[in-house]
Amino acid sequence: MNTWKMVYDKFDPEGEHLREALCTLGNGYLGTRGAVQETVTSWAHYPGTYIAGVFNALPTEVSGKTIMNEDFVNCPNWLPLNYRIEDGPWFNRLKVKLLSWKMELNMRKGKLTRRLRWRDDQGRVTWVENQRIVSMADPHMCALRCTIVPENYSGKITIRSGLDGLVQNKGVERYKQLNSKHLEPAGHGSFSDDGIFLTMQTNQSKVQITEALRTLVFHGHERLNPKMSVILHGQERIMHQFTLDVTKGQKYVIEKIVSIYTSRDHGVADHCALAQERVSAVSSFDALLKPHEAKWKALWKRFDIDIEGDDFTQQILRFHTYHLLQVASTYNEEIDAGLPARGLHGEAYRGHIFWDELYSYPFYNLRAPDITRALLMYRYRRLSAAKELAKQNGYRGAMYPWQSASTGEETSQVIHLNPMSGRWGPDYSALQRHVSIAIAYNVWTYYYISGDRDFLERYGAEMLFEIALFWSSLCTHNKKTGRYEIKGVMGPDEFHEKYPGSAQGGLNNNAYTNVMAVWVIEKALSIMERVNPEDLAALTSKTGITEKDVERWKDIIKKMVVPVSKDGLIHQFEGYMDLKELDWDDYRARYENIHRIDRILKAEGLSPDDFKVSKQADVLMLFFVLNTVELKRIFTNLGYSFSKKMMLKNYDYYVQRTSHGSTLSRVVHALVAHKIGYGGQMMQFFRDILESDVRDIQGGTTQEGIHVGVMGASINLFFECFVGLELLDDKICLKPNLPQSWTSVRFHLRYKDIWFDVLITDKKITVKLEPLKEISLQTAREVPIKINNRIVKLTSQKSTTILIADTE
Ligand code: BGC
Repeated sequence: MNTWKMVYDKFDPEGEHLREALCTLGNGYLGTRGAVQETVTSWAHYPGTYIAGVFNALPTEVSGKTIMNEDFVNCPNWLPLNYRIEDGPWFNRLKVKLLSWKMELNMRKGKLTRRLRWRDDQGRVTWVENQRIVSMADPHMCALRCTIVPENYSGKITIRSGLDGLVQNKGVERYKQLNSKHLEPAGHGSFSDDGIFLTMQTNQSKVQITEALRTLVFHGHERLNPKMSVILHGQERIMHQFTLDVTKGQKYVIEKIVSIYTSRDHGVADHCALAQERVSAVSSFDALLKPHEAKWKALWKRFDIDIEGDDFTQQILRFHTYHLLQVASTYNEEIDAGLPARGLHGEAYRGHIFWDELYSYPFYNLRAPDITRALLMYRYRRLSAAKELAKQNGYRGAMYPWQSASTGEETSQVIHLNPMSGRWGPDYSALQRHVSIAIAYNVWTYYYISGDRDFLERYGAEMLFEIALFWSSLCTHNKKTGRYEIKGVMGPDEFHEKYPGSAQGGLNNNAYTNVMAVWVIEKALSIMERVNPEDLAALTSKTGITEKDVERWKDIIKKMVVPVSKDGLIHQFEGYMDLKELDWDDYRARYENIHRIDRILKAEGLSPDDFKVSKQADVLMLFFVLNTVELKRIFTNLGYSFSKKMMLKNYDYYVQRTSHGSTLSRVVHALVAHKIGYGGQMMQFFRDILESDVRDIQGGTTQEGIHVGVMGASINLFFECFVGLELLDDKICLKPNLPQSWTSVRFHLRYKDIWFDVLITDKKITVKLEPLKEISLQTAREVPIKINNRIVKLTSQKSTTILIADTE
């Protein structure tokens, strides 16, 4: 098995949408689904190209209400390339006799290849190979190469190669009733004998997108210059068309070189001219391929996790790494875009940015913290929008929106469609204020792992202070109990939106939210001690934090209420224990899949609000994000007890009441199971996580976009559960726990400014240091790391091997 490749050797039109998402190519700036190039949108195919940060909002009339939807714009399709033999029909793989078919995603090289042989009704057999890249070396360049061999005939083949701006946002069935035509024509034409371009503009946000294309033709290695005519379909689709006289058994190669720029790109005066210029300077597909492959090689050197003894895990961890590097890259430093929950791979959740970042950032933090920094800047730039949102809701500080897109305003839906009942109902999900906790947590963990003080002082501290102000203003002091409370919010479990029968959304004292609000405030207080006095004075003056605020913060971290019974069972929220139990066996017997039990209950005229049933981990999130030392400290300061036994009790209780309706749920359960010593359950969840997208375990969601949170978290689980990685007391701690079949693992990690190259077998660990900065050579001479119970001092001069037996 080649674990660097994903190979599909059967053409199965029913599964094409899924494979298109799985075979997306991207570079952080843009992503293009792996749709075949001979097609437009159809029941079997959905070509989609998404450019990070390009959104457009449109109104739609639904159930008598006008709702606004900000979509992740499906940008002009740069793929179209089709051909026909003589004056036969244009090739359509759904209609011809396919003799062979193979699609191969080469993750090592970032290349998608399809090979096929087909026969037409006149017995003419044609062999075709299509290769495609979205350049990792240059975010604005894409290319496609199509090789055609007429195996048993000579004659004429006519080719069309073009750019299609007639695309709409039609990728998600549930959104089909919504307005989806986001693009209007803004320019087109040819700029050379073999070059054409198309400029489209989003009709609300007014972003212009230019795609410039050159079509190059070769016979073997010889460049041909066929006369190309330009065919227009209105002003929104432009094509080259030309005819080749082909000879039996000979090779004809058509290359499409494409450049994509938008009016959002920095430092670009004329995106249309630049796209043409860039594409004119490229001599061939290979000229783009070489630097692209070299860039991927460099990325893999740092990001690859090499596992001996488990091909499946090996392949999927590579697959996840590959996609994560395509969703966000160091090019994000040049663009203003966040991390969309479903990647640059499809239209689910409209490309919006949620709290899912929390699950993926560790992946970037430990190898390319610059990417996290760039993504956090997306949040920083929207700090004033978050402050405005807080103000509109009567709070101070910054309240980030549950769903964020271009401006940082709240873009969550207010009503949503239940596909099971076909009915639209209210959507309270925007009450998930915990998104601001995730942002504060991400700021802190980025800083903690990268050691980037500059970021903390210039941006991070301000975000954390504003978020702390928000939580402090959301808390109310209950005079009767003497405790602080947080009312009217939703926790991560989206099945519970309100109290049974209530007309108002929101719940009181969600345990995760309350504890984490304390954590945020604690961190804000500790940052106050870290930044130098002048910076602190500037920050408090800017944010308006007063001494009285700080006093209140200090009080909150001692008096926040956490709903917890004497026996240590944490209540998901106040009142949770009064809800009814669900007859899980009955539902499992009646429905094949009960992940989305909320939809089932609603379609039956019931409400998930009434039952002890969770979509995803909520209380358990606490044990996922915090370590036991932190948990103990927070609980103790609040006057509650905390023990490892409590973790076990809560896990046992909630795991039975969770349907895992979000892929994020299994991630949390896997890590918590690991922490409490349930190795078998951890392995089962880990396996499901690996299968999440590649097998589309939620039955139809992956085709609308990959699950970025789960992909990122799977890599983190590898580190936490198998390598036993913890970053404690400013050092790397490893406690390897490799499954029996794994004979070794090798990976690179970057902590602060040192790279660690680590090889682990069942007997020993070899570590080599590579300091990033000259200055660290000094410090790196003695870098302590902890292996099991032993502290080992490493030097940067040579690799050090430690016998595991000596560390226990
Ligand atoms: C989950 C949320 C998540 C969102 C986007 C939902 O199904 O419940 O926690 O943020 O998907 O991935």
